[in-house]
Amino acid sequence: MTLRVSALDGRVSITAPNRVPMHDIEAFVREKEGWLREKISKMPEQLPVTFYTAIPIHGVLHDIVPSTVNKMEIYTNQLLIPQKTKNPRAYTVAFVKLLARDQIVKEADFYAKRIGLPYGKISLRDAKSRWGSCNDRGAMMFSWRLIMAPPKVLSYVVAHEVTHLKHMNHSSQFWNELCSLFGDYDEERRWLRENGASLHKYKFKD
Ligand SMILES: [Zn+2]
Repeated sequence: MTLRVSALDGRVSITAPNRVPMHDIEAFVREKEGWLREKISKMPEQLPVTFYTAIPIHGVLHDIVPSTVNKMEIYTNQLLIPQKTKNPRAYTVAFVKLLARDQIVKEADFYAKRIGLPYGKISLRDAKSRWGSCNDRGAMMFSWRLIMAPPKVLSYVVAHEVTHLKHMNHSSQFWNELCSLFGDYDEERRWLRENGASLHKYKFKD
């Protein structure tokens, strides 16, 4: 039997063979109660984004600082935001999505050219359960929150989806192709596994 806590939303799931009786499953869960409670207590808290909140951009924390600028801009470790804006949260999310789109399209162009295949439409979402996807028509979806991760992590996710243009599965050919396209990806995958959920703690919606 295996017990899992989703790093994204704290959902607990248990997998057990059909023949295991329910009371054994319950006993197993009770036995793991301490572990479960500890896991859940470590889930990131929600942090509403507003003036002076620090959010990561390219893996580095940037303070959102009201300023006399007309449009949001990055200045060293700050995100300068027009001081008169009534809705800093909406303002920031629009800016972050723009940054994400630019970077993701740039990476997709780069990897698609290298692999020698065209891609379809790129859409950005705030998906909770996946960082990217690619369908059989070559349309790709990405989480715009990837722009908050270190640049190599965003590159990895884009290279991963671009590789699906060639292999619509996770066969060993897929992973070999991805390795020749991107290089060694263990570190980026580990980063996502260990830190990916932390990108979801920033609350961009009211
Ligand atoms: Zn995949």
